[in-house]
Amino acid sequence: MAGSAYDLFVIGGGSGGVRAARVAAALGKRVGIAEEYRFGGTCVIRGCVPKKLYVYASQFPEHFADAAGYGWTVPEASFDWPTLVANKDREISRLEAIYKKNVEGAGGETFHSRAMVVDPHVVHLLGEDRAVTADQILIATGGRPAAHPALPGHEHCIFSNEAFDLKALPSAIMIEGGGYIAVEFANIFHGLGVDTTLVYRGKEILSRFDMDLRRMLHETMEKKGIKILCHSVTESVRRRPDGRLDALLTSGKTLTVDQLMLAIGRIPNTENMGLEGVGIEMTAAGAIKVDGYSRTNIDNIWAIGDVTNRVQLTPVAIHEAMCFIETAFKGNPTAPDHDTIATAVFSQPEIGTVGLSEDEAVKRFSDVEIYRASFRPMRHTLSGRDEKMLMKLVVDGASRKVLGAHILGPDAGEMAQLLGIPLKAGLTKDDFDRTMAVHPTAAEELVTMYKPTYRVKDGQRV
Ligand code: NDP
Repeated sequence: MAGSAYDLFVIGGGSGGVRAARVAAALGKRVGIAEEYRFGGTCVIRGCVPKKLYVYASQFPEHFADAAGYGWTVPEASFDWPTLVANKDREISRLEAIYKKNVEGAGGETFHSRAMVVDPHVVHLLGEDRAVTADQILIATGGRPAAHPALPGHEHCIFSNEAFDLKALPSAIMIEGGGYIAVEFANIFHGLGVDTTLVYRGKEILSRFDMDLRRMLHETMEKKGIKILCHSVTESVRRRPDGRLDALLTSGKTLTVDQLMLAIGRIPNTENMGLEGVGIEMTAAGAIKVDGYSRTNIDNIWAIGDVTNRVQLTPVAIHEAMCFIETAFKGNPTAPDHDTIATAVFSQPEIGTVGLSEDEAVKRFSDVEIYRASFRPMRHTLSGRDEKMLMKLVVDGASRKVLGAHILGPDAGEMAQLLGIPLKAGLTKDDFDRTMAVHPTAAEELVTMYKPTYRVKDGQRV
């Protein structure tokens, strides 16, 4: 549009929005970006970053216990929750400032304001009560924890957002859900000394992962002392006179806890943004519909990240941002590639995974080879910790292509990142076999499992 104030206006200062704004500004484009809460978005402010810091915090009791086998005497340890919260706050404030500074340093303009689309080329900044014009508008407003209004007593529950900043560490917590967030937080709270119960509606936690990993993680978590109740759902929550909560489960059981956290998925932030007014099409789940290039049904309005509900992961939002820049500003239409995404669950032990699970592979391929090793990692020999590691490769018997790699154990997330490369490149099991091992490591198992543990032919295990 001739005379627009901005070449690009971005709504939402999270991982995707900030990346697009910064890179477009560095290309010399006139860029504005509005964020109503804090620059950095879910990942930096109340997601991946503080979560990982809390994972580290929660691992110390096991490190202290494991030290004895290596000759150390560790005096009795104590933990101070307010110190952890304050140190986490300091770190995320530092990162928040960097995110903002990076956009401004590249020449972009930042606004601390809620923004609404009032016309395909006009964004209203509510905090400043003024409108700005833009050639291109990018919506990157992310998502938020799904509420559960149908649950009687839901108003007593917290979500991951609040869990980071509780005034006091609860002595007992119940977490509803069996996905990434529920499992990660169950391990965090348990590690910090909280009596933790995970309540999951399905038959096994982490429904989207390989069954072997799910089972072994479940067993290991229970061995540590985390209670896991599958086939269970909360029917109602009631505040007791002593301030604690009673959660009545479908099994008839009542759990009494200090906090009840819901982690039942995340939904896109698309409400009260004027999207319907300008005719932007949305899915039934309230996500913005986009084409393969992240363009909405309106030519100059684009959307990336969790608000589009494609794959709710930070690196995916960043990748979509980079593709958007190629398409919208570099004359190089580039569709984000959502295939074979490596991912980690920061449970304890960790999960690192990429590609197809055994169950998925068997549905798509008639001859599947499974290479599987389960062993005690070396670090647990002297510590005496009774915890096993699992490594599994899923291979197409016909082409020898490695379809999936799944790890449960220390540093699994780090390994998944590296395994993402050969799987993305379509390498075969033969390529793995002729790769020299690094010894002594746990990862060497990945290149030394020469014989299939079993095959699955036409759905039958042989
Ligand atoms: P997930 O989709 O991973 O899991 C949601 C869980 O809630 C599932 O177990 C689901 O059950 C259950 N559930 C859904 N609705 C209900 C209901 N009405 N009652 C009871 N249970 C219900 O979502 P999360 O909230 O854990 O995380 C959101 C997303 O954030 C993840 O999908 C992931 O993409 C991202 N994330 C990534 C992390 C990482 O990379 N390490 C960490 C944290 C989040 P069922 O399985 O039966 O559907």
